[in-house]
Amino acid sequence: MGSFLNTLIVRAPGDEGIVRPGPHCIDCDARLGLADLVPVFSWVASRGKCRHCGEPIPVGYPVVEVANLVLWMLAAVRFGASWDLVPYLAFFSVLLALSVIDLELYLLPNRITYPSIVASVVAIPILSLALRHDPALSIKSAYLGGVGYAGFLLVVLLLWELIVRREGMGMGDVKLAILLGLWVGWIHLMLVVYALVVACVIGVVVGLVILVVRRSSRAFPFGPWLAIGAIAVIMYSDRILESLNRLPAAW
Ligand SMILES: [Zn+2]
Repeated sequence: MGSFLNTLIVRAPGDEGIVRPGPHCIDCDARLGLADLVPVFSWVASRGKCRHCGEPIPVGYPVVEVANLVLWMLAAVRFGASWDLVPYLAFFSVLLALSVIDLELYLLPNRITYPSIVASVVAIPILSLALRHDPALSIKSAYLGGVGYAGFLLVVLLLWELIVRREGMGMGDVKLAILLGLWVGWIHLMLVVYALVVACVIGVVVGLVILVVRRSSRAFPFGPWLAIGAIAVIMYSDRILESLNRLPAAW
């Protein structure tokens, strides 16, 4: 999956096919075989260079592969050996690909967000019927989460453009929020609010650091912070929900 994500990250922003043509070196076009595609090990064994043309292969490739491994381990810790684990493995990998592309290019390609949203909207009712005691509530909570999160960001985006008149968030972030709201909301609708708050805190801190270090206020990506907010809340959802239950009933 980590190896596939690298292909996705390189190809999704352009118009090359994602699956075909098969894996090839972007410098010399040499077809890559299995020996070139073993995550991390191939990169280390070839000392970070293409075996065919000797051009350096960016360290980002093994970093993405390791990051995917870490995210999958986190998901396994959170969900254990359950069917719930399967959609969240896919969800975490999609978030990794989108975050890396957003950090590099300041965009979240529709070629990833659209199919992910469609797959999620179809998968959630099926998974809810198969895995949840109250499927109707789970489906409602997920869909409301997606619409609510995206709706909120859309309002912020429009106000921002109206008042600040400078580039900030983009429509890509709103589409990403649909995806985040769906899978965070599938656990519990209230968690979507927490995901937004965590994303805002991380975004503001990173924004201030960039402002101080670079002394410029040019556009910076929002996708990674939205993604980290969602992942953090999913990881701690049990504890968050427990503390919510302890609030006085009248609250
Ligand atoms: Zn090459």
